[in-house]
Amino acid sequence: MHWFTIVFLVALAFATGVRLWLSHRHIRYVVANRNAVPAEFSASIPLAAHQKAADYTAAKTRLGVLETLAAAALLLGFTLGGGLQFLSEAWERIFETGGYAHGIALIVSVVLVSSTADLPFALYRTFVIEARFGFNRTSLGLFFVDLAKQAALGALLLVPLVFCFLWLMARMGTMWWLYAWVTWVAFSLVVQFLYPTIFVRWFNKFAPLEDASLRSRIEGLLTKCGFRSRGLFVMDGSKRSSHGNAYFTGFGAAKRIVLFDTLISRLAPREIEAVLAHELGHFSLRHVWKRMALLFGASLAFLWVLGWLIGREWFFAALGVHAQGTAMALVLFFMAAPVFTFLLHPLTSLYSRLHEFEADAYAARHADAGDLVRALVKLYEDNATTLTPDPLHSAFYDSHPPAVLRIARLQIQRT
Ligand SMILES: [Zn+2]
Repeated sequence: MHWFTIVFLVALAFATGVRLWLSHRHIRYVVANRNAVPAEFSASIPLAAHQKAADYTAAKTRLGVLETLAAAALLLGFTLGGGLQFLSEAWERIFETGGYAHGIALIVSVVLVSSTADLPFALYRTFVIEARFGFNRTSLGLFFVDLAKQAALGALLLVPLVFCFLWLMARMGTMWWLYAWVTWVAFSLVVQFLYPTIFVRWFNKFAPLEDASLRSRIEGLLTKCGFRSRGLFVMDGSKRSSHGNAYFTGFGAAKRIVLFDTLISRLAPREIEAVLAHELGHFSLRHVWKRMALLFGASLAFLWVLGWLIGREWFFAALGVHAQGTAMALVLFFMAAPVFTFLLHPLTSLYSRLHEFEADAYAARHADAGDLVRALVKLYEDNATTLTPDPLHSAFYDSHPPAVLRIARLQIQRT
């Protein structure tokens, strides 16, 4: 066996093992704390809601265990199991080997197989788990219409991008990865601009915020924070799910504020103001740009590594592929890389949690910390977010700080 095959198998076994272990810990911790609401929340969250959150978390995490196992099996099937080699040979019968059509067909078919493998999990999550806990509002019809739209959007964006990459790889010599990176950065920025203004309308309807008193309250907050936006909109999130949210999208002149209808129906105007102040904090502290800069830096490193690996025959052979080529290198690399970058997960989660604390502090300065606490408590209860995650699981995965820590900080910042 090639040394890199062994490295790959060990890394995959390690990443999968750690994931399963963390899930196991998380379920055990949540279930162990199921029968007592943490003291900080005992006055605001009833025991029944706390127990519902525990059961919901356990159900989602159990499904996650199956997904982890399925993903590992699929990865092995594609690589050492010969799946990629098989697809490549199958397309060779139709398209010229190594041509653009062959490369695009290979990549599209891999994406289709992976998406099909994810489908049973998405169906189970939406129509069994979300439905059992009263969150799902999607019909089977809407689910498949969404899926078709996502596929169309994916094809519209992915196929031209793949074509650009293959072209650069063929034409630009050993420095192709640098050109590919520039293309990727430009592509990401264009999508960042187009998604919130155009594509999102394929999925949801947006209406200007009608409620005049809420609008003037929000406009007051925007003025206080020195923020100009292109409008306040309400999105029909309730069409699919009863989970509530608010967000800012776009940048430059395209900035918009979007509130889910589910959020407006549940929170008091003061609380909505506090939630928006938190979101404004992310914007004002340039969290979006910092995250993007990090992502672009990481993708440059990734593409540089790929630029080096593409000339090594062992990279293909050790992962079960004889058919070398640019498209195969792309597929193989983006499939295998997450196995090796798995341990970076806690760092990105930590970075994200720091931003959440910063945005909370911003909200406490520009709105009322007490209102934000009340809003968060309502959202935790409504979304059945567990108040007692396993600390290690949370440190590894969670983009938001655990409820107890977050509320404790806000209580200190209350004036
Ligand atoms: Zn946030």
